[in-house]
Amino acid sequence: MKAHAPLHYQVDASGTHDHSYRVTLTIAQPDAAQVVSLPVWIAGSYMVREFGRHLSGLQARQGRAARAVQQLDKTTWQIDCRGASALVLQYEVYAFDTSVRTAFLSTSRGFFNNTSLCLRVHGREDQAHHLSLVGVPRGWDVATAMTPLKGARAGHHFKADDYDELVDHPFEIGPFWRGRFKAQGIEHEFVVAGAWPGFDGERLLRDSQRICEEHIRFWHGARGKAPFRKYVFMLNTVEEGYGGLEHRASTALIAARKDLPRVGDAATGDGYLTLLGLISHEYFHTWNVKRLKPVELCRIDHTKENYTELLWFFEGFTSYFDDLALVRCGLIDGPRYAKLLAKTATAVRSMPGRSVQSVAQASFDAWNKYYRQDENTPNSTISYYTKGAQVALCLDLTLRREGHGSLDAVMRRLWALGANNPDSIGITEADIARALHEVGGRSFEPELRAWVHGKGELPVEALLPTMGMVQMQEPERLSAAWGLRLNEGPVTGCVVRQVLRGSAAEAAGLCAGDELLAVQGWRVRRLDDAVQWLAQAAPGAAPGRSGRESRAGRASPAQAAPAVELLVNRDQRILQLRLQPQASTTRLPTLQWALDEARAKADPACALRRQQWWSAST
Ligand SMILES: [Zn+2]
Repeated sequence: MKAHAPLHYQVDASGTHDHSYRVTLTIAQPDAAQVVSLPVWIAGSYMVREFGRHLSGLQARQGRAARAVQQLDKTTWQIDCRGASALVLQYEVYAFDTSVRTAFLSTSRGFFNNTSLCLRVHGREDQAHHLSLVGVPRGWDVATAMTPLKGARAGHHFKADDYDELVDHPFEIGPFWRGRFKAQGIEHEFVVAGAWPGFDGERLLRDSQRICEEHIRFWHGARGKAPFRKYVFMLNTVEEGYGGLEHRASTALIAARKDLPRVGDAATGDGYLTLLGLISHEYFHTWNVKRLKPVELCRIDHTKENYTELLWFFEGFTSYFDDLALVRCGLIDGPRYAKLLAKTATAVRSMPGRSVQSVAQASFDAWNKYYRQDENTPNSTISYYTKGAQVALCLDLTLRREGHGSLDAVMRRLWALGANNPDSIGITEADIARALHEVGGRSFEPELRAWVHGKGELPVEALLPTMGMVQMQEPERLSAAWGLRLNEGPVTGCVVRQVLRGSAAEAAGLCAGDELLAVQGWRVRRLDDAVQWLAQAAPGAAPGRSGRESRAGRASPAQAAPAVELLVNRDQRILQLRLQPQASTTRLPTLQWALDEARAKADPACALRRQQWWSAST
């Protein structure tokens, strides 16, 4: 086959007022009936998003002659070409979504994924793709991990070896903050958009560097090198927001501005800790899902859902190692780490859907369940992030208790499968089972069957003493006692968000969307009021008792407790409902995990196991 000239995309970012990128795509040697399309989804975010709905005004020409454009479906077009001259396509893409999955352009900043901007030229996916940025407002910078073209105007011309690489390099443009550090010899760049004055960039760099070094050592040892030339963190800070999307040499993050570290404040608040966890999570993905990946995703189909049962491994195990890295590199201490683990355990326990779907089924269904959450989500599915992380914890503690290595070794064994091609290591569940067997010295098929494909409870609590840890149950939260989750809206007041399956709230006839007007004859306007009233009336919460006495699992005097009168507004009608405490109601306590130092002292093997578990990778 003859070599084709690179496809060339010119992206004009001057449309900051109409929030539109203008794209000119030049195909030097088009097919007679050239087909182009935009992807319907972006890798790492398992939902069909129809990026084509934001594309408009597609025009085609060869030389001065306009060519007919025929739309084949919602996202595909065909251009009838004549002769061998270059085909030039022009179109615009509306970009006003601040999430990390699509594109955004305003007078304050710009961001784009090429899945939103760059039409795929069918039949040419494997050839070189070049991208030039023009019209970048004066004073704005450009950040991306895409390889710059040599000799061109610095920082505005880039190249990718194929289409999949092109769409795996997002761009941040704007007047952002930028810092740099090296981790195990690799250059890392960190850009932050929207930070407020007093933001402690130096601390963010220092802490990120520790996380990155821990992860590189985890996969490659102290002398190893990461499998990328350069890595870029692109963080957009906003009033409220959280999320990230992983790429082969970069990540796009969104976080609350208030969670950034502040100059003069050395504490690590929960908000900043969440941000560090996000940084750690997306960076770990650079190995686990971007290179080591489900065999089904080795060649991405951009036109439809790409199903895999393995998100419990790629998202769940990543969620396990993200926080573990924080304790291993010394950013948090043991008790703080135990709290993070307990939070995940509580999240799993608070979803009745865990007995409806296995975590493998939840992975497969991510496209229309996890990514399309609604009021019924906790009842119908389980998060492959949280339960997957708990599966990882159970496997790790079991391996360590039996004295045959660790989950670290399992991950490295899987990585070694890519000795010949570390950029694309497609694995199946059988590969994971084999790696567990090789490291653990026995089959882990029973565990995988029960924990990954079963719907029962995980043996987390029973495994904690292995590491000198202990589980306690805190007093129930409102959602635990009544099965009721509330929202507070600026106009609507207190609104029911979710009603958990099998709960007292369900039995009372409460529905998502009900506006809670009064409890026991008292008007409630704010969430705090409602929570306080309902908590007072909750099963087992008689006045004068300490919360600790009203533990879940203990027989409470629920039958004796009086019903709670509620007044709700549903679709303009006022309804009176009686919330009756029920002993049979599903009880979902908040879990607390703590270090059991007495046990660790009495059992040196246990203390050693915990120390090895939390030690920095070497
Ligand atoms: Zn993830």
